[in-house]
Amino acid sequence: MAKILILAETQNGKLKRSTLELVTWSRKSGQSVSALLWGSAAPAGAKELGQNGIKDIWVVESAGYDTYNPDMCAQTLHEVTKKTAATLILGSTSAMARDLFPRVAARMNSGVISDGTELQLQGESVTVKKPLLSAKVLAKMTFDNSPVQFVLMRANQLPVEAPSSSATPSVGSGAATGVELHAVSAAQPLLAVVKQVVKGASEKLDLTEANIIVSGGRGLKEAGNFKLLNELAEVLGATVGASRAVVDAGWVSHGMQVGQTGKTVAPSLYIAVGISGAVQHLAGMSASKVIVAINNDPNAPIFQKATYGIVGDLFEVVPKLTQEFKRILHK
Ligand SMILES: Cc1cc2nc3c(=O)[nH]c(=O)nc-3n(C[C@H](O)[C@H](O)[C@H](O)COP(=O)(O)OP(=O)(O)OC[C@H]3O[C@@H](n4cnc5c(N)ncnc54)[C@H](O)[C@@H]3O)c2cc1C
Repeated sequence: MAKILILAETQNGKLKRSTLELVTWSRKSGQSVSALLWGSAAPAGAKELGQNGIKDIWVVESAGYDTYNPDMCAQTLHEVTKKTAATLILGSTSAMARDLFPRVAARMNSGVISDGTELQLQGESVTVKKPLLSAKVLAKMTFDNSPVQFVLMRANQLPVEAPSSSATPSVGSGAATGVELHAVSAAQPLLAVVKQVVKGASEKLDLTEANIIVSGGRGLKEAGNFKLLNELAEVLGATVGASRAVVDAGWVSHGMQVGQTGKTVAPSLYIAVGISGAVQHLAGMSASKVIVAINNDPNAPIFQKATYGIVGDLFEVVPKLTQEFKRILHK
């Protein structure tokens, strides 16, 4: 039987959707499942984990973990991996976990498979599918002679389901009951101290986590016209992305770039506005479940990938969409 340890992540005091995806998959696998989480939101996150059927929870309740310190976090994940005797460590492909997992895997003479889109267990061995070469091929990967398998899954790939009531531990007004909570002491930084992290202005979800993305390209003509996309995104609860052409032009920051040299995203809905659909852009978003393209050129390559296409002037189409979504969604 595999022993799974999930590295749970929170945002604004709640578990991230990507964590709930891992929780659902692990719970349904029927294996022994533990979870680790840290930071000042850890107690709230632990309660949510309990409500989602996780009964063995390891918590570092320390505000010192609110800012990612690679050294401290690696020590803690390593320690809890050993204590739980976990054979499969699961995280989502966030910037933090991408940095952290290889550090701990190296300490345990193991490797990491990142960017997974499908997971399968056979006994203790995990098989992970991941896109390679700008999603032109899908690789099936397993670990060779690795007692501990470290896997990072892309967000929005696995379903989120609430547990059936029989699988849910009873939850009181404070901590969940039927759940074993282990307090882990905060590690001491040995090599590096993080003094300050400067965050971007946006409070929106990171693109890689977003369920809906509205992305803009050169068809918007100038930076100020991103206002149209911000308005549409606001109504839909979406995050705004961009093509490289507009990032290179300095209209928006590089953190918003989708594509081969930007972020790889897989939202439920991707709305491409004034984007031609160059192969390097498609490499970053073609795994989106539903793609809507708005372009005034009926021959734009993006239409070959789109689930729905609107041929028209974005300056007419986008405000109408915003107005209509506002009417339907915010009655
Ligand atoms: C090594 C390499 C890596 C790259 N990495 C990336 C990457 O990560 N991400 C990325 O995006 N690109 C990347 N590129 C760049 C890529 O090749 C394209 O140049 C870029 O994606 C084009 O951006 P765009 O679609 O916004 O602009 P364009 O190709 O200029 O397309 C603009 C579109 O807007 C439409 N349009 C114009 N006016 C309107 C209107 N009024 N209403 C509706 N539609 C309108 C046009 O018909 C056109 O289709 C990379 C290139 C290279 C060489």
